[in-house]
Amino acid sequence: MAPDTLFERIIRREIPADIIYEDVHCVAFRDIAPQAPTHVLVVPREPVPGLDGPLDSALAGHLLHVANLVAAQEHLSAGYRVVINCGRDGGQTVNHLHLHVLGGRAMAWPPG
Ligand code: AMP
Repeated sequence: MAPDTLFERIIRREIPADIIYEDVHCVAFRDIAPQAPTHVLVVPREPVPGLDGPLDSALAGHLLHVANLVAAQEHLSAGYRVVINCGRDGGQTVNHLHLHVLGGRAMAWPPG
């Protein structure tokens, strides 16, 4: 069996995190190393390893919906960015799917 990821331990409240939203499908908490004034991670309770799946399309849609809810809750009315890093070249460091919700400053493009 695959070992628990850090995010599963946060979801189970074994590791502290600043959780700002949760429902039956996912949990959202503040990133420990924020890259913008607001930086929240939206994480499914189900331990999906990454965007490359296996991922149910209804869950994928729900996670995007929650990213938008979190942005509203955080008053990101000027806009925000949602990022999913996938795999080594994508810069993924935790093998549990997560959406970064970044806001509170203007974002540059292209990303590094
Ligand atoms: P990624 O590089 O896309 O896999 O994103 C992993 C994110 O998890 C990074 O932005 C880290 O700063 C964040 N992170 C790592 N450990 C923790 C933690 N204990 N609590 C909150 N965020 C964390």
